[in-house]
Amino acid sequence: MRRAFQKIIRLHPEDTKKLVPIPIEIPTGTEALRIKFSYSPMEVDDLELGRNLMRAKVKSYAAACEGDPNIPPAVQAFWLQLAQDVDRFLPLRNLLNFSLYDPTGRFRGRWDSPQYFGRWAEMGPDLSRGFICGGVTAGEWTLELEVHALLSKEVEAVLEVEILGADAPRWFAGEMHSHTNHSDGRASLAEVRQAVREHGLDFMVLSDHNTIAAHPDIPKENRQPLVIPGLEWTTFHGHAVAVGVREYIDWRAEKQDTLHEKTAAVHRQGGLVSIAHPFTVGDPFCTGCEWEYANVDPRDVDLVEIWSGSWQKHAIPNWRALTWWDELLNRGCRITGVGARDLHRLEQLDEPDTANTYVWAPICSEEEIIAALKRGAVQVSQGALAELGVQTKSGAVYTIGDTIPRHEQAEAELHVSVSGLEGAGELRLIGNGRVIQRVRGYSGEPVAFAVPGEISWLRVQVHRTTADETPLLITNPVYFS
Ligand SMILES: [Zn+2]
Ligand SMILES: [Zn+2]
Repeated sequence: MRRAFQKIIRLHPEDTKKLVPIPIEIPTGTEALRIKFSYSPMEVDDLELGRNLMRAKVKSYAAACEGDPNIPPAVQAFWLQLAQDVDRFLPLRNLLNFSLYDPTGRFRGRWDSPQYFGRWAEMGPDLSRGFICGGVTAGEWTLELEVHALLSKEVEAVLEVEILGADAPRWFAGEMHSHTNHSDGRASLAEVRQAVREHGLDFMVLSDHNTIAAHPDIPKENRQPLVIPGLEWTTFHGHAVAVGVREYIDWRAEKQDTLHEKTAAVHRQGGLVSIAHPFTVGDPFCTGCEWEYANVDPRDVDLVEIWSGSWQKHAIPNWRALTWWDELLNRGCRITGVGARDLHRLEQLDEPDTANTYVWAPICSEEEIIAALKRGAVQVSQGALAELGVQTKSGAVYTIGDTIPRHEQAEAELHVSVSGLEGAGELRLIGNGRVIQRVRGYSGEPVAFAVPGEISWLRVQVHRTTADETPLLITNPVYFS
């Protein structure tokens, strides 16, 4: 089994001579670890800056030995001449390295640029390249980035991690929004869990209106389905699900509030903020259901429901939510689109045109599901699943939720196939909110597209070919940065 992820780190001159810790979560069952690291630019293009720095250094070095009776005058003169000829040392280089520490803080090896630039450094019980041979225990490892010299305005570092032997990642299906009889749901948590399990879902988010009263009903052996605790802020001016919180969070807010303190309270608990059914018809039809918090900084929000309940029944609010999500993505906000039934009655599980939220994770644990939701490794679907890969010229392959470095965008190709489609639909390739390509009569076969140069995100939708164009599947984007 193999699991890979990528991180992009941006560094600036003020980071020089600093250590930057980067946590890496290693799952149980990991046998070996591979890390590839590169950064750009390596060379400092401001030659004049390099020239001035070198001259100053040569001069001060020459001055320090000037008049030293033990150093022959000809040798001293050599250093003074060097000040006139520093160009041979240019361009200067940005210099980054890193060391690796296991969860106990033990040193486990080092990456050194001349040896490993663009190549894998490896570690395992019988494997040692840069890192020290040995077992790879589960837990939080630290990669400590050493910024030895950084003179360019910005350096972008790309860290690729491959975890071998860990549990096989797969798509886990979940319901992102559900109520029990502790609020206005019809069933107890035990009954909801039973129905969710029978429906084949792997996890559910418990989100009663403004209460955590059902949390003690979450079984200790919390599996199949995994219940992620939460609550639904049900305010006078909009609803939001706090996903993965255990403590009560006050819902009371005015329409003009930024909700910043409330969203921060969710994040402090390790949870995510999900805007619920943002365009549901509000007062007086559904009191307080429409999202009216125009002051909220979208960067404080992690998820948005783009598919709430039955698409057919809620077609207008769902189309509007989808359009709004595109606008937020175009503003550079990295918000994950999710589906939600807003489960109040168990029959809603079988309602037509409702969507599950599929999350790509190594295991179905609260921590992994939340991390994958945050990263955007998510597709929203009636059951069909897309396999999406952006292949770059360097041979790297990126998928839903990944960020592709800009320099990899040229000549990149997007490969898509879909499994589980019933009948033919229309595949749409969406980039920066616009339909870039359509494939009519699409029934899941592999198709490839050239990646346009100017876009910052790309995703795929499959729709019915009926007049209402109901979606069957919506993926989250791959991002270019
Ligand atoms: Zn609601
Ligand atoms: Zn609700």
